[in-house]
Amino acid sequence: RESKGKLPKYPGLERWTLIEKMGDGAFSNVYRARDNNGQYAECAIKVVRKFEMNSTQGVLHPDFDKKAPKTVERANILKEVQIMRQLDHPNIVQLVDFSESRQYYFIILELCPGGELFHQIVRLTYFSEDLSRHVILQVAEALEYLHEEAGVVHRDIKPENLLFYPTPFIPTKHPKPKAPEDEDKADEGEFVRGVGAGGIGTIKIADFGLSKVIWDSQTMTPCGTVGYTAPEIVKDERYSKSVDMWALGCVLYTLLCGFPPFYDESIQVLTEKVARGQYTFLSPWWDDISKSAQDLVTHLLTVDPEKRYDIKQFLNHPWIREANEPTYAAH
Ligand code: ADP
Ligand code: MG
Repeated sequence: RESKGKLPKYPGLERWTLIEKMGDGAFSNVYRARDNNGQYAECAIKVVRKFEMNSTQGVLHPDFDKKAPKTVERANILKEVQIMRQLDHPNIVQLVDFSESRQYYFIILELCPGGELFHQIVRLTYFSEDLSRHVILQVAEALEYLHEEAGVVHRDIKPENLLFYPTPFIPTKHPKPKAPEDEDKADEGEFVRGVGAGGIGTIKIADFGLSKVIWDSQTMTPCGTVGYTAPEIVKDERYSKSVDMWALGCVLYTLLCGFPPFYDESIQVLTEKVARGQYTFLSPWWDDISKSAQDLVTHLLTVDPEKRYDIKQFLNHPWIREANEPTYAAH
C-alpha cells in the first residue's frame, strides 16, 4: 500500500518521474509523469498490476487482494492497447507507448489535465444546456468515429471515463443583462474565468479496457469470414453500437440534472429498473430543462435497441443541430 503523498517506484519505469496520482481503478493506478529523456510532454501512465497471468509464467503478486473482483489477463491488456493503437481522433485519449515489467503493465497515455468529467459534475451540481451540449457533442463525435470509421464499440462510456482539458476562459451563450443606456451596444456574451465556471475545453474518451472490435475498418466487413457470418453476428454488431448510445443517453441525462437516470441501493432493483427502462424526468430538477433536450434523452434511453437512436440520428436531432456552438480552443 502506498501512503498518501508518497509515490511508488516501479522497476521498469525508470524513464519516467511520477508527479502525482490522477486516479485509481479496480486494478490500475494512473499517474501524471514527466519523461526524463525529454522526448514526450507530460503524460498519464496507467500502471496495471499483474495479479495473476493466464499463462504458465504467471506471477502471483504478494499484495494480492482477495477483494479484487477479477484478475487482469494479459490478453485483455494487450487488446486494450491493440485497439487504442488503431485510434486517432481529437476526442479520444491518444496512446503514447506501452511497456511491461514482471509485475506490471505500463500504458503511457496523452495527459488530460482536467481529470474526470465525473468530478466536474459533482463540483458544479449540474451543467447548463449549452455546457451539456458542448460536452456531449464531443463524446458523440468520438463515438461516430469509433462506430462508423474504426469499427470499435467502447462499452464503458460513463463520466469517470470521460476526461477533459480545462479552458481558462469560456464564452457563455447567455449575455450579461445590460444597463438601459447600453442596450444598443454589440452583444459579445460574457466571458467567465476558470474551471469553477464550467471551463471544460476538449473532452476525451478514455479507458478502452472493455472495448471491442466489431468491424474490420480495412475491409469494411464484419470481423470473421465474410460469407459465413451468421445474421445474429451481424445484428450483434448493431446491438453493441447501441450499447454506447444508451450510455450516451445516461451521460446526457446526468449532465443536465446532476444525477443518473437509474439508481437504487439494491443492485437487483436497479437491474430491474434498467431492464424496464424505468426512469422519469424528476420534478423540480427537470422543470426548467427544454422539451427538446428531454426528447433527445428519450430517444437514447429507449429499451428496444432497434428503435434507439444511432449516432447519425443523435447528431441530426434539433437540440444538437439548432444550437450555435461558440468556438473553443482545440487540443
Ligand atoms: P480503469 O480501467 O481502472 O477504470 P482508466 O483507464 O479508466 O482505468 O483510468 C482510471 C482513472 O485514471 C480515470 O478514471 C481517470 O481518473 C484517470 N486517468 C486515466 N487516464 C488518464 C489520462 N490520460 N489523463 C488523466 N487522467 C487519467
Ligand atoms: Mg475507467
